[in-house]
Amino acid sequence: MKSSNQNRRQFLTKTGKAGIALAAMPLISKIAPAMASEASAYQQQPLPYAYTALEPYIDALTMEIHYTKHAATYAKNLADACIAEKVDTANTSLVSLLNSISKYSPKMRNNAGGHYNHELFWQLMKPAPSVAPTGALAEAINKTFGSFADFQKAFSEAAKTRFGSGWAWLLVKKDGSLAVSSTPNQDNPLMDIAEVQGTPLLGLDVWEHAYYLKYQNKRPDYINNWWNLVNWEFVQNRYAIAIKSK
Ligand code: MN
Repeated sequence: MKSSNQNRRQFLTKTGKAGIALAAMPLISKIAPAMASEASAYQQQPLPYAYTALEPYIDALTMEIHYTKHAATYAKNLADACIAEKVDTANTSLVSLLNSISKYSPKMRNNAGGHYNHELFWQLMKPAPSVAPTGALAEAINKTFGSFADFQKAFSEAAKTRFGSGWAWLLVKKDGSLAVSSTPNQDNPLMDIAEVQGTPLLGLDVWEHAYYLKYQNKRPDYINNWWNLVNWEFVQNRYAIAIKSK
């Protein structure tokens, strides 16, 4: 894995003099954004809100442990797997890696999925969001599921009935249509081994680590409360991008 930091370290080693390295900083910062475009997707990004922000639906301690322990570990193990399996993260998008995940080890599958899924999960929640989608996504949901309430019912059912650990999804399939699915473990619809493949718009983590401290065995209560956190503007934006690329 070649991060901009590693490049900078290599540069420092080559020049040997910190003063020269500092003089060269503008050049490095010009190069860095292009390289960061792929590589940064492999790294854990800052949580877009405080641990307390999603209270009372998701408690602060769950958020903190989920982000700093579980999700951070997926990111670290993904980095290790990329080194072991010689993935050039500066030039390989995380999405394209997931699209061909069958070529890699179970460790890569679990941690590339785990990292991608959590990075998406943090972004698609926010405190006090709008209650429902609007525009093209709302129209597509109505067309596919009958109504927003029917969609919520189908998605919640997928989340409730996923046996053991996994995720529920709203996705855009390759033909541009919407679907609800669920995946085991840290799999996701981008993977070439997924039953229903496409671009995930919305995902719900139903691993016990996501809810057990507050909800214990009551997964359905967690799911019902989670709808109060969905950042529909973000989901709508993902839909627009997904449809554009069809
Ligand atoms: Mn999780």
